[in-house]
This record gives sequence, structure tokens and C-alpha cells, in this order.
Amino acid sequence: MAQTTPGFVALYRRVLGLLRPERGVVAMLLVANLFAAALGYVEPILFGRVVDLLTGSGRAEPFDTTGTLLASWAVAGLGGICLSIAVAWQADRLAHRRRLAALSAFFEHVLQLPPAFHDATHSARLLKIMLTGTDHLFAVWLGFFREHFANLIALFVLLPLTLLLNWRLGLLLIGLVAVFAIVTGAVIHRTHTLQWEVERHHSDLAQRAGDALGNVVLIQSFVRLGAEVRALREVADRLLAAQFPVLGWWALLSVLTRAASTVATLAIFALGAFLVRNGAASVGEIVTFMGFATLLIGRLESVLGFFRALFFQRPALAEFFSVLDTASTVVERPDAIELPRLRGEIVFDRVCFAYRPGKPALFDLSVRIPAGTRVAIVGSSGAGKSTMLALLLRLYDPDSGRITIDGYDIRDATLASLRRNIGVVFQHSTLFQRSIAENLRIGKPDASAAELETAARLAQAHEFVRALPEGFETVLGEGGARLSGGERQRLAIARALLRDPPILLMDEATSALDARTEERLRAALAAVMRNRTVLIIAHRLSTIRDVDLVLVLDRGRLVEQGTYEELVRKGGVFADLVRAQHFSEAETQALLPLGSA
Ligand code: ADP
Repeated sequence: MAQTTPGFVALYRRVLGLLRPERGVVAMLLVANLFAAALGYVEPILFGRVVDLLTGSGRAEPFDTTGTLLASWAVAGLGGICLSIAVAWQADRLAHRRRLAALSAFFEHVLQLPPAFHDATHSARLLKIMLTGTDHLFAVWLGFFREHFANLIALFVLLPLTLLLNWRLGLLLIGLVAVFAIVTGAVIHRTHTLQWEVERHHSDLAQRAGDALGNVVLIQSFVRLGAEVRALREVADRLLAAQFPVLGWWALLSVLTRAASTVATLAIFALGAFLVRNGAASVGEIVTFMGFATLLIGRLESVLGFFRALFFQRPALAEFFSVLDTASTVVERPDAIELPRLRGEIVFDRVCFAYRPGKPALFDLSVRIPAGTRVAIVGSSGAGKSTMLALLLRLYDPDSGRITIDGYDIRDATLASLRRNIGVVFQHSTLFQRSIAENLRIGKPDASAAELETAARLAQAHEFVRALPEGFETVLGEGGARLSGGERQRLAIARALLRDPPILLMDEATSALDARTEERLRAALAAVMRNRTVLIIAHRLSTIRDVDLVLVLDRGRLVEQGTYEELVRKGGVFADLVRAQHFSEAETQALLPLGSA
């Protein structure tokens, strides 16, 4: 994520821009605010007129009578209150609606970002960015409609208009406001980099806590409790150390604001008294300007509060937008086609791909996999096996070359129609913290109970699911906790069976399972592999004797291909791998009796 520092104005415009879908409500709120701000100014004017009328000084207008003045005052006051209620009422609803809309948009955007983004950004951090970001959006919108817009009108429209009432007193007011604005601006400028630092610590804190919470078992088993808590406290201490100087600056500013109020009152009194004595102002005008001063200091304080809030919120909002601006590396073409159900002939044509420039993960890979065949991909760790499957799923696009299925370049198809044709059964099969039935229905949302049962039976999962207290309605722990690895994998197989895709990508279990589980898994796999093109990442070479094709990858290159027998006979890389593995298995076997004796 690029951490750019958008200016206040740019950020503010972007935040308000999110309200565009509800232009009508926004326009109504702005007009209501305009009237409310104007009515706020009418009151001090009427007050001054009443004073002038009572003291018999000044230039009371001919139609001024105590009765009409008081009546207008009452109407202005009541009107102001009614408008404020209407604004608050509608602004709250609008802010709530847009907050949820922004949250959904963020969620959708993040879900479709490529794995590379998610590898680099912890999920806890993303959650924090999403929740804090949308909370801040909410606060800015509400602040804008409840106060800030009226403040802007007051300061930029109504304040200059006071010059018409009495230009000398008006100039004084404008001068005071300007000085105050300059001081505020200076402090904001001074503290803005400091707050970035604070926000970074906040995110670190969320990431650290999220990481620990996601690994509770690991922490407990390695007796890391003390160390983890200590590490969290250290981040918290750093956060406080960064936060305190910022708070100091803001405290200074609060004091200045209070002083500004006193200074303004005194200045108007002093200048006003002088002007009255020289006949350049009436007592009523002094009263009116005193009212303006109080009003304006209030407005200024509110503006200050708003800037202070936005100032604190800015880094989090910028982070929120920076995630929203992260473009997906895999882009669907505007004219992308909906793939029909495919047969499953896969061709990699001179495919090159690198996660990082200069470090190719796959290099010049060409292979044709006929529909309906079973293919094992072997090679040492880091050879590019997972990358090959990731490219086929279009989690990334090749840097050069192309991948076709049944002759369709996968970049020409919609992502959804491509992925509908491909099922995955990965070893770390991902399960949601939802019921087993819901987890299986990810494969086929409208699957009936009978279909779930058939799939579970074929996947050899039915027996253990039935033994659970609530059967298919049993809610799994986070990531499928409370199930064994073999059980999780069989659920993943059942899910793939329900989906019934023509192409299946699998990740074979790395560790040997006990004989009974192994046999069940084998039966489940046989069921799921029938009549499909299957690509298996194989770790134990003994399990792939009967595949149709073995692809041997080495440091991103396809170095050998053929049947198991052919490759063993050839005596190349694969034969070496088989020999090495056979040797190590024999070694393990030889060691076992010793270990258990
Ligand atoms: P295999 O599945 O055969 O173990 P991979 O396809 O996972 O190998 O990895 C191939 C190469 O790409 C390795 O050098 C690995 O370090 C690198 N790699 C894999 N995933 C990423 C990633 N998300 N970001 C950067 N490099 C990666």
C-alpha cells in the first residue's frame, strides 16, 4: 500500500464525494444548513435593534416596534431550532446509510484483490482499516452536516456581510478571525507528521494482536504468553510516546482558543465604546457585534474541533482510500466472455511469470494436458508447482505466454465463469466458521440435503459428520478447528464434488496418514477425480504411479514429462527424486522400531 499524504482539501473532497449517490438528500441538507446559519445571524441583529429601540439611540428603522422585533426574533429562534432538528434527523440517517455502503464497497474490493496483496497485508490490519475508516467517514459526514457546513457559511459569507452593518467593527472581527485561523493552521501543520507515526503504531497494534489471537494454540504450546503480552505492551508504549507530543500541541491550541474569546470581547468593547463616543456606532450595534463575536468564537471552536478530528482521522482515512485504490493485477476485460462448461483441455504456451522482477517463478513453460487426464506436478519446494495452479486459476496473469482451456485464452473469459469450471481441494483446505452444511454449499448454494449427504458419502465424510452432535448443522471452529486434517480434507472433497467442475486442482497431503484414514481418503479422491481433468501437486511419489502424466518442475522450468514408468526408466531428475524419496522412506522405516522400542 502506498502511503501518500493527501492534503486536507483533497481528502475532504473525496470523503464528501462518497455521498454522491444521494445527491438529493445532500442538497436538501445544504439548503437547510444555509438557512439555519443565516437565522443564527439574525438573532444578534434583532437583539441590537431592540436595545437601540429601548435606549432611543441609533438608527432604528421606521417599522421597528418592540412587538414586531420580538415576534421576528421568536420566529427566527423557532425556525432555527426546527431546521436543526430536521438536519440532525436526516443527516444521521444519511451517514448511517453511506457508512454501510462504504463498508460493503471496501469489503467487496478487498475480497477481489490478488493473493499477493493479502500476503503482504495482515487480515487483522485490513479489518482495522475497514472499521476505523468507515467510522471516520461517518464522523466527517455527520460533522459536515451538523456543524461544519454552517460554520463555513458563517465564516465565508456572513462574516464579510457584517461590514455592511458597521465596517469598523466588521473589520475588527475579520481581523480576529484571520489571526485565529493562521495560528490554528500553523499548529495543524506542525503536528501532522507526528500523527502519521501514531496511526502507524495503531495499525501495528491491531496487526500484532490479530496475529496473536489467530495463533493462540501456538502461543500456548510454546509458552509464548509472556513474550507476546510484553511485545504488545512495547507497541502500546511506542504509540503513547508518539501520541503525547501531539496532545501537547492541541492543549496549547485549546488555551489559545479560550484566550481568543476574551480578547475578542474586550476588543469589541474597547473599539465600540470609542465609536459610540464619536457617533460612529450605536449601543445596539455594540450589542449586535458582541453577539457576533460570541457566535463566531463558537463557530471557530467548532471549526477547530472539526479540523482536529479530521487531523486525527486523516491517516486512517488515507489508509482506507489507499486500500480502495489498490488496483487488482488481474483485470477482467470489458468484453470478457462467459465460458460454457468446459471439457478441460489445458495448454500452457510459453508461460513466464515472476512474483518479483528478475526472479522467475515459472520460465518458458509449455505443456498440453488433454481433457480428462490426471496429471501430477512434482518438484522440490519452490519449484513453481503452486504458481502453475495459481496462474490457471488466474490469481495472477503470466508476464508472457498464454494459458488456454479448450482453446479459450483464460484472459478473455470472465473470472467467475473461469473459476466456476475449476474446483480446488487444497491441503490447508479453508473452511469458514459456519455450519458444515453452509461450508459444503459454497460448492453449490442450492444443494438439497440429499445432495449434501450423497457428496459427503462419496467423500467418505458422512460417517464422521453424522457422529457429530448436530450433524451437518454443526458449526465449525475458526478455519475448521475441532476437525482433524483428514476430516477437513474430506469436507473439501465433498464441496468439490457438489460443485462438479470439469477441472480439479489438488494438493496432496504431505504427511502420511494412518492406514485407515489413508484408505478412506483414497476412496474419496477416486470419487472426486472421475471424469475430470485433474492436476495434483504430489509430494509422495508412491501415490502417483497410475496418473496419466507426470510433470517435473525444477526452479520454474519444466524439465521432464511422461508417465511414471517412462520417467523412472529414463533415469533423469524424476528417477533421482523417486530414489531419494524411496531411500528416505526406507530410512524412516528402519528408524521406527528403534524410536518406539
Ligand atoms: P512450490 O509450490 O513448487 O513449492 P511455488 O510455486 O510456491 O513453489 O514458488 C515458486 C517460487 O516463487 C519460489 O521461489 C517462491 O519463493 C516464490 N513465490 C511463491 N509465492 C510467492 C509470493 N506470493 N510472492 C513472492 N514470491 C513467491
